[in-house]
Amino acid sequence: MQIVAYGLPRLGEKRQYKSLLERFWAGKLAEADFLVGMESLEKERLSTYATYAEVYPATELSFYDSMLDLSVSVGLIPNRFQPYQGLSSYFQMARGAQALEMTKWFNTNYHYLVPEWEDTIVPQAAPEVFLQKYNIAQVNGFRGAIPSLIGPYTFLRLAKHAGHPLSVEQMEIYGEKLLPAYRQLLFALSQAGASAFLIHEPAFVLDDPIVPLIGYLYHGLAEFPLYILTYYESVDFYNRLVELPVRGIGLDFVSNTANKEALLQYGFPEDKVLIAGVIDGRNVWRADITAKAKEVEGLLSRVRTLWIAPSAPLSFLPLTKAPEKKIPQPVWERLSFAKEKLAELHLLKRYITGDATAKVEAEATAALWQGEPMGFHEPTRKRVSALTDADFRRDVPYHERVRLQNAELNLPLLPTTTIGSFPQTEDIRALRKAYREGQLPESEYKARIREKIAEVVRYQEQLGLDVLVHGEFERSDMVEFFAERLAGFAITEQGWVLSYGSRVYRAPIIYGEVWRPEPMTVEEIAYAQSLTSKPVKGMLTGPVTILNWSYAPPNKSKEEVAYQIALAIQDEVKDLEKAGIKVIQIDEPAFREGAPLKQRDWAEYFRWAVRAFRLAARALPRTQIHSHMCYSEFESILQHIWEMDFDVVSIEASRSKGTLVEEFKRFPQWDRQIGLGVYDIHSPAIPSVEAMASVIDAARKVLPDQLIWVNPDCGLKTRRWEEVTPALRNMVQAAQAARQVVKA
Ligand code: GLN
Ligand code: ZN
Repeated sequence: MQIVAYGLPRLGEKRQYKSLLERFWAGKLAEADFLVGMESLEKERLSTYATYAEVYPATELSFYDSMLDLSVSVGLIPNRFQPYQGLSSYFQMARGAQALEMTKWFNTNYHYLVPEWEDTIVPQAAPEVFLQKYNIAQVNGFRGAIPSLIGPYTFLRLAKHAGHPLSVEQMEIYGEKLLPAYRQLLFALSQAGASAFLIHEPAFVLDDPIVPLIGYLYHGLAEFPLYILTYYESVDFYNRLVELPVRGIGLDFVSNTANKEALLQYGFPEDKVLIAGVIDGRNVWRADITAKAKEVEGLLSRVRTLWIAPSAPLSFLPLTKAPEKKIPQPVWERLSFAKEKLAELHLLKRYITGDATAKVEAEATAALWQGEPMGFHEPTRKRVSALTDADFRRDVPYHERVRLQNAELNLPLLPTTTIGSFPQTEDIRALRKAYREGQLPESEYKARIREKIAEVVRYQEQLGLDVLVHGEFERSDMVEFFAERLAGFAITEQGWVLSYGSRVYRAPIIYGEVWRPEPMTVEEIAYAQSLTSKPVKGMLTGPVTILNWSYAPPNKSKEEVAYQIALAIQDEVKDLEKAGIKVIQIDEPAFREGAPLKQRDWAEYFRWAVRAFRLAARALPRTQIHSHMCYSEFESILQHIWEMDFDVVSIEASRSKGTLVEEFKRFPQWDRQIGLGVYDIHSPAIPSVEAMASVIDAARKVLPDQLIWVNPDCGLKTRRWEEVTPALRNMVQAAQAARQVVKA
């Protein structure tokens, strides 16, 4: 039995990866020094792997993204980057003015660079990127290290042509063109000494696998010794998959039981290696090693050669829990980040193979999960189990609520508002940091935040906005802010994970029952409201987003956790109402992206996700509930969005506005107010009055005036004041002009 490991985070123990990239981009590090730095980071990673595993990736340390590495290595370089000149072109493709499109990698929070086909491109191998990295492993004698590449099928399924995903026909045509280049690439690595390859094919788990194309590609690669890795889900074409002419196949046995059922039913070919993904690569909890051993033994009854592996790349876990000092001991003990996952694999192997020293250790991991669960809170459990259908409904239907709300708020037609945050300038960040590090007493910090709130309220009044916000200056992150204030969450100090490029984030860890010990936002929102006669919109993050952007607790359904968070948010809604707040926005940017990879699981996800939102939003009839969504395509889920039963929604649709408007035509039951995002906040360009007027016009063609709001498409925190002020001034002007058209 061997251990296969992959996906060890590239960030490095001291976040060297980030600083190397950023110093290089800023011109503070010469290319040669950058390469030396990356090489030593790679050596550190390889020796971590070598400590625990027999087989691990040699070419994994991408300088930006593995999909980009493959694009440049098979010559898929769009014309605008020609002639391709090494690293500078590589980073132009990654982050230049006309960079490749970036989008979410499967159901993770990582973003990859989308391969871009142009008709004129003839793929050709350019193996330098891979050879250079393979060389690091070889020169340093890492014998278990084999080249690791994204597979050709995943590459094609995630590629685009002229902004659209490839049709099956296009995939076939481009597959034929890609194959020779891919072969050349593997051939060059073979020549350099590679005796096997790890080929990542997570797209094998997607709906509607194009089995003939997969067969074509892998028969074309049959001469190479390949180990295919699939992960994030089970595969839907098990029988055909195990017939592919490859040496080994990796399957995910953690995300659900379908792979295991298929294997037990149909068996596994004797001439291939099963790489059993049994240690959870997606979540942060330690495994019960004795239970895992039983599982592996069950598989062994049907498999001749079995190696063990994580169920998915470890890249979306923090590197190690070792430096965490503030996490409660019982939680810390049960945590397992990427490095600890490697140690778990090692222990599992020793235990299965009868190593006497492993027994005590393995049994201790079983004991970890006996006894009272972490962060147990009886009242919260009871509260969730007592929920009835009535708890997921507002007392009064929308068409009656809207009358009460209009009477309460007295807003003009086409009301204007923003999404919540205003520019987070250096001084704000410095302020929060000083407070966090104890250099600024709480009273002083709060006073400074109040000043900021007062300024931004005055600012919005002067601009003539109709529904104001408090600006979110006290929040560094919309999920972390709430996680810090809710029971049942742990926050890491060093648990950074790459989001894309050199960008990192820390996801909170939910370990116990989630409940709200005390109000979280009332002080700031009520203060803002006290300064103005216009309505101030209370700003909360929704339960689905908080859950999707955190690590979920062990042994609990997501549905139950979502309801616990929802109840905590509902408590906050009620306190905001008591404090006189009449408009409350519950942000759900991650609502769509939390949907499972397979369409057949969507109905179940949206069932509880919609209910969680409704539970959180169970406000008084006269309270106007807003939601906000972004970063996703919403066309296919309008029905579920509507079922959330908010009063107003703002949707980011800058890139797909046209189609979204079309979609409303086909959804006649839509009766809620909506702000379509009249300008794209992701661009520093200042939108003209005319451009925004035309968005308002387009919306008016399909929706009645009474339903239309005017707002930017997302929060303004990443923009500068010099951009925000003229943009909002123009926006208010566009709304005012549009109102005149009605009167005339
Ligand atoms: N209210 C949040 C903000 O304005 C929403 C952020 C988001 O949609 N991602 O920053
Ligand atoms: Zn947004």
